[in-house]
Amino acid sequence: MEWVDWRSDTVTRPTAAMRAAMLDAEVGDDVYGEDPTVDALQRRVADELGFEAALFVPSGTQSNLLALMSHCERGDEYIVGMEAHTYKFEGGGAAALGSIQPQPIVQAADGTLPLDKVAAAIKPVDPHFAHTRLLTLENTWHGRVLPMDYLRAAQELARERGLALHLDGARLYNAAVAGGVSARAIAQHFDSVSVCLSKGLGAPVGSVLAGSATLVGKARRWRKVAGGGWRQAGMLAAAGLYALDHHVARLADDHRRAELLAAGLRDLPGVALLGQHTNMVFVDVPAPCLRELDSHLAGAGIRIGIGYLPTLRLVAHLDIDDDGVARTVEAFARFFA
Ligand SMILES: *Cc1c(COP(=O)(O)O)cnc(C)c1O
Repeated sequence: MEWVDWRSDTVTRPTAAMRAAMLDAEVGDDVYGEDPTVDALQRRVADELGFEAALFVPSGTQSNLLALMSHCERGDEYIVGMEAHTYKFEGGGAAALGSIQPQPIVQAADGTLPLDKVAAAIKPVDPHFAHTRLLTLENTWHGRVLPMDYLRAAQELARERGLALHLDGARLYNAAVAGGVSARAIAQHFDSVSVCLSKGLGAPVGSVLAGSATLVGKARRWRKVAGGGWRQAGMLAAAGLYALDHHVARLADDHRRAELLAAGLRDLPGVALLGQHTNMVFVDVPAPCLRELDSHLAGAGIRIGIGYLPTLRLVAHLDIDDDGVARTVEAFARFFA
């Protein structure tokens, strides 16, 4: 039986066509700047998002770290959401490796950082304070698409106050598809953008950091310092190019399936539907039955994550079809019957 795995959109496996593209990739030693497929991916993302340059990296965590270290110097500060991936889920890398101080701000329920709070957190230029250099946003955040007028206002504030603006766009393409805008229309508000190829886009590995040539040059050096120089990475870049060609528009299917799942769970006794945003569904179930639910679902070939989040997060992706949604709704209904 095929597992229906709702834990994350990172669990997808490369399709046969993606694997064929990987096998066919032209490759070279990227440390020498000689991998044509890596170059093509970097050029493609830079052009598509409207930046001078881009850098292919192994993970979104490294991409964000390199962005922070390229925008900020030792003793600088970045403003970030209290529940942002960059702050909370990246091992404190900016502080541990970059000597960059985070200034977390409690996010609003829609994932925005209230701009009055951001403005109030910017430190005066004075020897007492870290030098506030950067504002970092996340889109989508827990599946939520940041409003376009918010992005404009955030960009305006950053400009006025001399801050750079970075986007953790791990799921930038989900935001673009759900919002009916181009990825570039979102990216244009930022000085740098990190996108994941290994989430909803379905590539096995990789993220891309886009920005100015100067910023990407710094990031390339920090990537080397962090041990992230590639050799024949074109086989991985080919998967990313394939994903950008074939797996962007279909993110709408994931959003539709998340909606279907939410509709199926909404009226079940014992399940409190908290919300559905793009490809994510959030539900609360009574805490004492969580483990039992987990093993009941596993018996039906369904995986959920009951890890570090206070509520259940179910994530639709490339490897979950309509039948997988139906099986899941049935299994939940049987459990709570
Ligand atoms: C997954 C994710 C990352 C990090 O990506 P990895 O490739 O897992 O390191 C960064 N930000 C957000 C919002 C993510 O969801």
